[in-house]
Amino acid sequence: MLLYAQPPFSQRKEQPTTLESKIGRVPTNTTPTVIPRAEHSISRALISENALKVLYRLRDAGYASFLVGGCVRDLMLGREPKDFDVVTNARPEEIRELFRNARLIGRRFRLAHIRYGRDIIEVATFRAAPHTGKEGEEGEEAEEDHRDETGRLLSDNVFGSQDEDAIRRDITVNALYYDISDFSVKDYVGGVADLRAGVLRTIGDPETRFREDPVRMLRVVRFAAKLGFKIDPATAAPLYDLGSLLLNVSNARLFEEVLKLFHGGYALETYELLRHYDLFRYLFPRTDESLEGEDGNFPRTLLPRALANTDQRIEEDKPVNPAFLFAAMLWEPVRLRAEELTAAGRHPREALMMAGEEVLRDGQRHVAIPKRFSFPMREIWELQSRFARRSGKNAFKLFENKRFRAAYDFLLLRVHAGEESQDLADWWTRFQEVDADGRAAMIAALAPETGEGRSPKRRRRRRKSRAGGAPPQA
Ligand code: ATP
Ligand code: MG
Repeated sequence: MLLYAQPPFSQRKEQPTTLESKIGRVPTNTTPTVIPRAEHSISRALISENALKVLYRLRDAGYASFLVGGCVRDLMLGREPKDFDVVTNARPEEIRELFRNARLIGRRFRLAHIRYGRDIIEVATFRAAPHTGKEGEEGEEAEEDHRDETGRLLSDNVFGSQDEDAIRRDITVNALYYDISDFSVKDYVGGVADLRAGVLRTIGDPETRFREDPVRMLRVVRFAAKLGFKIDPATAAPLYDLGSLLLNVSNARLFEEVLKLFHGGYALETYELLRHYDLFRYLFPRTDESLEGEDGNFPRTLLPRALANTDQRIEEDKPVNPAFLFAAMLWEPVRLRAEELTAAGRHPREALMMAGEEVLRDGQRHVAIPKRFSFPMREIWELQSRFARRSGKNAFKLFENKRFRAAYDFLLLRVHAGEESQDLADWWTRFQEVDADGRAAMIAALAPETGEGRSPKRRRRRRKSRAGGAPPQA
């Protein structure tokens, strides 16, 4: 067994001082455990044709040629891998010479992308963590310069040997290699035992590894939700305390990671784990705050329901949209802020716009939502104020809006959360089902006195106040 003993968390509290303790030494096994073909379940039939082409061509040219990472983990578990990553001892330039369809990408961490139509196989060269680099070819600086004062790794681009490549990876089950030369699996870090036990464990000292790259904390949680694995207690312990390190991660990278967290098919479970380990608030602080209290004894159900729906859609192979995800993610603070602004005298529609702008602006500091998603997200919010106004041309105009469907789905979430009446949702459901004449009839049938779900009294009051110079309704 190659499992590494982890000292109890309590013994590792003090900050690293010397370089050696900074590194959090990982024992390397330069000779891996080899699991022969007969003793594991990876069959070539489950590997993509293009990945096999790449593996064989590298092998035939005399290079080491392995599948690595998530695809080996997933294949061992009998799951379908998302993508196939290849690793080799060939240098990027050598890879390019071997494949006409190769493109080198990345400035610091150079990789080859081998393209087959829309399919891309990523081929990396064995890397070492900077401190263990033997060659230093691309990282000549002093070792200390590879980390900042929080322990974060600043560079990650030193070629290394296969065992070095294994230990720079994040968790043991992600560091297995499938060898195309004899179809065996090579394990330097006890990954196979952890895979069989269903355990997620960082390679080396957890706190050190999380400090090196705080996104690893999110990855551990993501894999726990996706694989249904347990997080080893020593790996889990520092999660509770290190969340604030996520504040040092670029908001663009966190956006990418958030999509992986919530569009991976296990959003609800992931969300619950993120809350459990107190990591969620470093991604969406205002949402986290708004979830603290309950609203008039209504538990806040909109976000969990939205996440469950997202999982359901992915399960059914339906498309999912980041704009909708973020609309749900940030809605609670938007709604609460809009209420405050309305109470302070703003017109409800203006309050909603202002609240949306403010919550988005605050949120961007943590997770940068690109405009192509934040624009439609705000439209989804803003359309919410238009569902109740159905008379005249209002309903038709709303129906023709290109965000209507997303806004309607969002309305259903709000109805479930008790924010709007079921009658209103039913009306809009029916409106979509009937033909144009049916729609006109539905609008005509809205009783003017009681139309739009308002009591006659409230409606009169509204008329009066509008006449009194309230802003026009767009
Ligand atoms: P997924 O199923 O999401 O693709 P994955 O494990 O393949 O999971 P990738 O992000 O594709 O995840 O990364 C491929 C491999 O690269 C990982 O399995 C891991 O070995 C290594 N890796 C990725 N991110 C990190 C990180 N932040 N720190 C260390 N190693 C990493
Ligand atoms: Mg992957």
